[in-house]
Amino acid sequence: MSRRDTIAEHYREDIDQWKGESGEVVVGVRINSRGESCSYCQALLGEHSLEHAPEFPPRECEDEYGCSSWWEPVLSDEVVGSGDD
Ligand SMILES: [Zn+2]
Repeated sequence: MSRRDTIAEHYREDIDQWKGESGEVVVGVRINSRGESCSYCQALLGEHSLEHAPEFPPRECEDEYGCSSWWEPVLSDEVVGSGDD
């Protein structure tokens, strides 16, 4: 298994775990970069709902570490002014 596959598996496990929790605590995933990511990784930066979480690392990315990008949970109490207040 390549490094990329290992990262992708960890990522999916996190997403699945967060989906499996109450759904009240973790509402999404945020993909961050240390600033030197390729255009494919940059396209994924920011917050995504768990339901629409993108594949990570992107297949097109040529860096086996996903350009040193990482992901973290978006917690429900972080979400402010999501549009209806
Ligand atoms: Zn990349």
